[in-house]
Amino acid sequence: MLNRRKFIQISALSSSFLSFQKKSWAGSGAITKPIVISTWDFGKQSNVEAWKILEKNGSALDAVEAGVKIPEADPNIQTVGYGGLPDRDGRVTLDSCIMDHLGNCGSVMCLEHIMHPISVARMVMEKTPHIILAGDGALQFALSQGFEKINLLTPESERAWKEWLKSSKYEPKMNIENELNDKKAASSAETMAPLYLAGGPYNHDTIGMLALDASGNLSGACTTSGLAFKMHGRVGDSPVIGAGLYVDNEVGAATSTGVGEEVIRSVGSHLVVELMRQGYSPELACKKTVERIVNRNPASAKSIQVGFLALNRKGEYGAYAIQKGFTYAVRSSKLETLIPGKSIL
Ligand code: ASP
Repeated sequence: MLNRRKFIQISALSSSFLSFQKKSWAGSGAITKPIVISTWDFGKQSNVEAWKILEKNGSALDAVEAGVKIPEADPNIQTVGYGGLPDRDGRVTLDSCIMDHLGNCGSVMCLEHIMHPISVARMVMEKTPHIILAGDGALQFALSQGFEKINLLTPESERAWKEWLKSSKYEPKMNIENELNDKKAASSAETMAPLYLAGGPYNHDTIGMLALDASGNLSGACTTSGLAFKMHGRVGDSPVIGAGLYVDNEVGAATSTGVGEEVIRSVGSHLVVELMRQGYSPELACKKTVERIVNRNPASAKSIQVGFLALNRKGEYGAYAIQKGFTYAVRSSKLETLIPGKSIL
């Protein structure tokens, strides 16, 4: 049996091992600010817009809103905003949320006909007593605030949907989002089908953006058209506070991309932030959260993608995904780069 002294010695040893493990991932002590990070290759262009605000000592909240509006308005990005791939009924429905350093947050779910759902989410946060508006209620609110009603379905996305209708196979699986940016592939006729099928590589992807401003405040934004050819009314993780995005100014912020159902089950972004609160570095917090998802169902994890991105209040950042192929973009006064995310598989 352990005597008391032995027990204390062992506990002290294991807690110092744990703190060594956490510290060894925690990076340097210097604070990097301002800084902005965001998911996928299109994050690089989005960071440029966010940086214009951050470098003039603007707020992280303004920066993340401005940043994610870039892919929202780009018809060539078929996974976010205008030009996003529709649901199985041919309707483009958008999910977005935003959160600031005070814990204020706003979200829109299944919003149609509006180019910038992130700005509507911000208005929900700032002008209503609520956090979430969904569907027609979100649209009516947007219109009452002066947003223009537009058709979000571009001819390219309509064509992809019609191709999909020929088989109507619905198996949202792995993503290889960055192949979407392969212009050669995107211009070839076959890319409309079968690669755009729901189970194919182009079926999803989201921009999640996190920023730390010169005042030391964190904010985040997350916006998507969700899984391509989803059931009408399906809402993913992206507009769910705690799942697709979470910000706690005392600790850090996190966001996610990939199969939203898995992220919601694990309340992923909140878990990443809580792990950072316990002392884990952003990268290790993301890794542990991805492991939680994989361990829950290792067989199904082989065929899906989920990735997390995190930034702590010192400006340290990191990411982790289930599959290879996840990238994220970083912009600070010293750095403007795209980083391949590490992965479990
Ligand atoms: N997370 C998004 C959703 O499930 C899609 C994605 O990021 O690929 O709606």
